Amino acid sequence: MSDGFHNRILRVDLSKRQIRVEEPGEHFFRTYYGGWGLIAHYLLKEVEPGTEPLGPENVLVFATGVVTGAPVGGSGRSAVGAKSPLTGGFGEGDVGGFWGTELKRAGWDAIVVTGQAEKPVTLWIKDDHVEIRDATRLWGKKTAEVEEILKEELGDRRVRVAQCGVAGENLVRYACVMSDVNRAAGRTGLGAVMGAKKLRAIAVRGTGRVEVADQDRVRRAADWLRDNFREHWTLGLHENGTANGLLGLSESGGLPTRNFQEGSFEGAEKITGQTMTDTILVGRDTCYTCPVTCKRNVKVTGRYEVDPMYGGPEYETAAALGSCCGIDDLEAVAYGNQLCNAYGLDTISTGVVISWAMECFERGLLTEEDTGGLELRFGDAEMMTALVERIAHRRGFGDLLAEGSLRAAKRIGRGTDRYAMHVKGQEFPMHEPRIKFALDLGYATSPTGADHMHNIHDGSYASEGGIEDIRSLGILEPLPIDYLGPEKVRLAKYHIDWQVFWNCMGLCMFMPYSREQMRDIVQGVTGWDSSMFELMKVGERAMAMARVFNYREGFMAKDDVAHWRFSTPFESGPAEGVKVPAEDIAKALEMYYEMRGWDKETGAPTAATLHELGIGWVAELLA
Ligand code: SF4
Repeated sequence: MSDGFHNRILRVDLSKRQIRVEEPGEHFFRTYYGGWGLIAHYLLKEVEPGTEPLGPENVLVFATGVVTGAPVGGSGRSAVGAKSPLTGGFGEGDVGGFWGTELKRAGWDAIVVTGQAEKPVTLWIKDDHVEIRDATRLWGKKTAEVEEILKEELGDRRVRVAQCGVAGENLVRYACVMSDVNRAAGRTGLGAVMGAKKLRAIAVRGTGRVEVADQDRVRRAADWLRDNFREHWTLGLHENGTANGLLGLSESGGLPTRNFQEGSFEGAEKITGQTMTDTILVGRDTCYTCPVTCKRNVKVTGRYEVDPMYGGPEYETAAALGSCCGIDDLEAVAYGNQLCNAYGLDTISTGVVISWAMECFERGLLTEEDTGGLELRFGDAEMMTALVERIAHRRGFGDLLAEGSLRAAKRIGRGTDRYAMHVKGQEFPMHEPRIKFALDLGYATSPTGADHMHNIHDGSYASEGGIEDIRSLGILEPLPIDYLGPEKVRLAKYHIDWQVFWNCMGLCMFMPYSREQMRDIVQGVTGWDSSMFELMKVGERAMAMARVFNYREGFMAKDDVAHWRFSTPFESGPAEGVKVPAEDIAKALEMYYEMRGWDKETGAPTAATLHELGIGWVAELLA
């Protein structure tokens, strides 16, 4: 048996209160590498088509990757997956921090949770000891309170906790799974699945080690990162966090502003990472063994009280609760971030749902009759934070917003769905396709809906320096950001497959390692002779499986929709007049399907494609 995995998957049936161990074998781990691929395997095998996402039949998977917990920077990641209550399709969110490493140290590769508990429970894992415990006293509490109670009760400050929050308990469709109180597996509503199962938290303590096959090789990569991260864009992440580039994005016309109506925000400087550093920053935090330390701890007193333990706004949060809602008040954004982390809400969907409501109100499509007397205006910071509270508790108008923008718009009618910024029901993250055209293609075709975690950012490949690292995959020429021809489609496919592979192996996507270094890390950790071809196929395979999952749930090619707003020119700002031409995206979609071997009508991979990916058993599910 190789290193990088334990060949131990923990199976927990909450309905029967049964625990067992599954040992799927080395081929399983070398086929999927963990994360997204492992999740897709269990969802395809065990979730019947048409399953209610918030019912007991949904399957909730917590998965590490083969690199998770290895002694090399960026290895702190793990993934969570289930059928999404937000999209009705493949749901996945990944997260950094320490929880995944702790699970691996406890001797587990993944946890597969089925059924539904009668009363709130926690799962307590200490190495081989696994116990389902009563959690009634934790229900309704904020994430930090829950974490503190569990650490006290278990008598160990080194326990790591993943949990749904009050938003998950209340089945908010974009509730997330929080770990370490300030890290979120944010997307696709997995906190609601956890809440529906009445599984409030999973506390883990591992006393083992994550063994690697070749210590020297892995140490060389770790040393390289420590010595070189300041030479790369990771320096900006270290100094000012992921919001480091927010102001630059605004200056180039790519900062989502007022529900994506604009790409440049007059208040950008007030909410950018540099301003955070200069004003409310009190500490830099990190994930397991990462020298980059891109995480923020901020403190605010007075108008708002923000506790550094809840972290600080990431770029996505600063833009979603900030510019996208027209808000330039950094302290309010930090407070909104704290509320989201304390209640377990995805900050992206939360911000975009609120910005949708603000736009509809300003257009007269929503009235005070709908909102329960609330006046919604862009720029109203107090209203933003009040709405976050209402959403988490499903209070008043918050109950409608807790359904996500698409469902809320359908319920309201009056054309409000036109301004719901989503794909497949999931709200857009804070990346604007009009300044990177292939991103639009990635959004439209992602099985998780509008998602940035496995998407392409064209600017990375628009210069000779940018393509240096992808030459080994045969991309030899830089391509302009506003080009969507066949060469860009090919580039997007390669890039997206690689991103999904990152997810599977459990490595942070901010790492400046070259592709060859990443292959070295995989080989050094596992002892496998993995080639670049194999690694690309891992990503492609996982993507194909998620597409089949969606097909079984009724998604077709027609659901791969690029949002009309991005094919409409900006009316002002640095990118005035720029749009993604609708005919370009239509042609690119067609080409992408052909390159991927996806059926043009169903949107699912063909049987031949699945066989080529070595997962012929999935082809049988197409019937
Ligand atoms: S770069 Fe940031 S998110 Fe990535 S592992 Fe390091 S601290 Fe975590």
